Amino acid sequence: MIRTTNSELETFALAEEIAHTLRGGEAILLCGTLGAGKTTFTKGLAKALGVTKMVVSPTFTIIKEYQGSALTLYHIDMYRIEDEDELYELGIEELYQKDTVTVIEWNKMQELPDRVIRINIDVTGENQRKWEISGLESDNN
Ligand code: ADP
Ligand code: MG
Repeated sequence: MIRTTNSELETFALAEEIAHTLRGGEAILLCGTLGAGKTTFTKGLAKALGVTKMVVSPTFTIIKEYQGSALTLYHIDMYRIEDEDELYELGIEELYQKDTVTVIEWNKMQELPDRVIRINIDVTGENQRKWEISGLESDNN
């Protein structure tokens, strides 16, 4: 699926649309340069999952946990991870449970759950982003 958004609000709407397809157990891998909209997308996703706490960038904390109404959201930024062992020290392999959704910016994990949604974001203008999304339940790629 390919989408274009022309504002943060449109990105929130796209994230909401994707949130509605989630059943728990998914990993969502976000790829895109700094400022592409990875964290913005995650904010929209969190809101749609019923998270009331403010979502902040996990750059320094690496992993953040948010309770949604039915699912728990983990938001991970692996940018500063140099060695996969560091991830296992964080207990990361226990993440992919039935009632969790894990959003990963800059993924460096080899081990992923069965259901992986890959999202590639291209900056195509000041407020325009192109989203290439694969692995959604609704399509067959
Ligand atoms: P990343 O986490 O990928 O580094 P952020 O989500 O933190 O990126 O930042 C994206 C920036 O781009 C924000 O300042 C946001 O307001 C801006 N922006 C402009 N247009 C869009 C859009 N269509 N979708 C998402 N963010 C946008
Ligand atoms: Mg970010």
